[in-house]
Amino acid sequence: MKNLVLLGGGYGNMRVLLRLLPNQLPEDVTITLVDKFPYHSLKTEYYALAAGTISDQEVRVSFPEHPRLNALFGEVTHIDLENKQVFIKDKEPVPYDDLVIGLGCEDTYHSVPGAAEYTHSIQSIDKSRLTYQTLSNMPAGSKVGIVGAGLSGIELASELRESRPDLGIVLFDRGHRILKDFPERLSKYIHKWFVDHGVEVVNNANITKVEPHTIYNHDEAYPMDAVVWTAGIQPNQVVREMPVEKDRSGRVKLSQYHNLPTDEHVYVVGDCASLPHAPSAQLAEEQAEQIVQVLLKRWKGEPLPEELPEIKLKGILGSLGKKQGFGFVADRAITGRVARFLKSGVLWMYRYHNG
Ligand SMILES: Cc1cc2nc3c(=O)[nH]c(=O)nc-3n(C[C@H](O)[C@H](O)[C@H](O)COP(=O)(O)OP(=O)(O)OC[C@H]3O[C@@H](n4cnc5c(N)ncnc54)[C@H](O)[C@@H]3O)c2cc1C
Repeated sequence: MKNLVLLGGGYGNMRVLLRLLPNQLPEDVTITLVDKFPYHSLKTEYYALAAGTISDQEVRVSFPEHPRLNALFGEVTHIDLENKQVFIKDKEPVPYDDLVIGLGCEDTYHSVPGAAEYTHSIQSIDKSRLTYQTLSNMPAGSKVGIVGAGLSGIELASELRESRPDLGIVLFDRGHRILKDFPERLSKYIHKWFVDHGVEVVNNANITKVEPHTIYNHDEAYPMDAVVWTAGIQPNQVVREMPVEKDRSGRVKLSQYHNLPTDEHVYVVGDCASLPHAPSAQLAEEQAEQIVQVLLKRWKGEPLPEELPEIKLKGILGSLGKKQGFGFVADRAITGRVARFLKSGVLWMYRYHNG
């Protein structure tokens, strides 16, 4: 029997499971899935978990069951590429024949003093739960700073506004306008939503230091009762420590078949992989589709296509609370209820196929 080991049950490896199970997995292959948690977590909804507008149960999806799927719950600490085994805290090492690394990402703090120590996070389910506790326990009139006005920062600021109208919310944006890489119409729409709903947006921000209860923008002190960091990501630490070639963001450089150039049995999927698009759940899933095709061909001893098709993405969709949204889909900016409805629909479809 060959053992395919999947590290991390996130969007990438869930798609691998969805495609291989129940009937595409060759008879001589077993799968071992390793994750810290005994469920798949809907990371794209962590902003709502942190803001307290959805329950914890709503961001959890059960892993699939199959006679040849062995789920192992524990923390991956190290990957030994030479001896083809994975180390898991307090457990026996797990040997692999093929490996797909999909451990996701963590915050990066750009060497800003105090940022790692004194800010909250929505990059993992356990950290989002802590952020939820802090935000929901804050007394009336408290002030929350959100650093970073990318998709997750915008969604958190707007969701928190609806969840806690009594809080002061300040969103620090590095750009001269929100979502500066997208059409100006989107920036204006989002900015207006924030103005109308009493969220202060600080453009051209540069956070230089964070201390307990104070954040410094261009060295100017802003008193804050809590700060949430949504200003950048880097691959999981286990991947950062792998002795393989990485790009400038620390993501692993791969062959066109998504495996290490030095090892055709080790694939990297999702936020840890160096790909020609910004990391996203959508990208992780599309890449996983290709990895499954490559795995199936290699297992059958069939030749691989000379080139894999270019990965095409559908666009982005974001929420502004429960009723409004925005998006850039098929090269078109969309705003309002339609965008929000589409976003809810995508989530519904995801749950339908994976639940
Ligand atoms: C608030 C927010 C909103 C977002 N919205 C969108 C969106 O609308 N659309 C979109 O496409 N993308 C969105 N993203 C990005 C998207 O969530 C990620 O790109 C996607 O989750 C990456 O998938 P992945 O498979 O690489 O890893 P993940 O889905 O992050 O999964 C990683 C898995 O690895 C496990 N893990 C991590 N470390 C270890 C370890 N040491 N040992 C064992 N297990 C471990 C985790 O428990 C997790 O299950 C959003 C992100 C955030 C934070």
